[in-house]
Amino acid sequence: MPPTRTMLVVHGGCGRRPAKIPEGRQEALERAVREGLRGRTALDMAERAARCLEDSPFFNAGTGSVLTLEGRVEMDAAVMTGDFRAGAVGGITGVRNPVSVARAVMEQTDHHLLVGGGATRFARCAGFGRYDPRTPERKKRWKELVAKLRAGGSPSEDRYWTRTRPWLERYLPREERGHHSTIGAVARDAKGRVAVATSTGGIWLKLPGRVGDSPILGGGTYACPDGAVSATGHGEGILRIGLAKVACDLMKTHPCQQALDRAIAFARRNGVEAGLIGVDAEGRPGEATCAEWMPTARA
Ligand code: ASP
Repeated sequence: MPPTRTMLVVHGGCGRRPAKIPEGRQEALERAVREGLRGRTALDMAERAARCLEDSPFFNAGTGSVLTLEGRVEMDAAVMTGDFRAGAVGGITGVRNPVSVARAVMEQTDHHLLVGGGATRFARCAGFGRYDPRTPERKKRWKELVAKLRAGGSPSEDRYWTRTRPWLERYLPREERGHHSTIGAVARDAKGRVAVATSTGGIWLKLPGRVGDSPILGGGTYACPDGAVSATGHGEGILRIGLAKVACDLMKTHPCQQALDRAIAFARRNGVEAGLIGVDAEGRPGEATCAEWMPTARA
């Protein structure tokens, strides 16, 4: 492989294939790749591509994020580079591009992960303006869902999710129930540096305060000298098995695609629905999923 090879891969979530794929969705992924390629370093490439996808209402990240049970948007995002630098935010509200706030955490603070009100406060102090990422379509959908849940009875708090689940299954349309449209980008630049960016609004009607795998280093996002990986899928499961770290560790001994295939086999054995994209230190790309569908683009 030539040492100057640059590579950028993006994903737009994984899950069930929607009956009808919205027009323009794949083009949005391809546009993000084109935009990402304008970055100078691997980190710039991954961040640029991720910002582009956060700004697209097709995806569950930034604008278009899904809503919590209370009707708010709480977003998670992380960036990491192959030399183990990292920044992340969990449950951040009221910003347009959580992935850039994550980068600011990495570059401007002594910390790696800021959450909730602290993350939002940091964003303001760092100069990120106020922004409401809720789209009219998501607000409308939230109202419908909550009205239907209420009509099904109001369960006591401690049993909430046990009783709610059948209602979610019944009322969320196939796509919303089964497709996690989190976004991620992995890049390798001409100097051989690798980086990853992942961003999400989480999962519909999550409890306020829930943080998924995306901002957890080693869970949904990880990079090391051997490569970089972004995950999508059921956050709780991905977190439990440390999937992005598993995949990166496998890159020590396997080319990227084989490493991702093995990591996904591990996820499947553990009953975790997940998808991965990755790039290794040589610039070899990879993608793998045990879900029905994971739209990606690369160049
Ligand atoms: N992994 C994300 C989460 O659980 C969801 C997704 O991939 O869409 O927060």
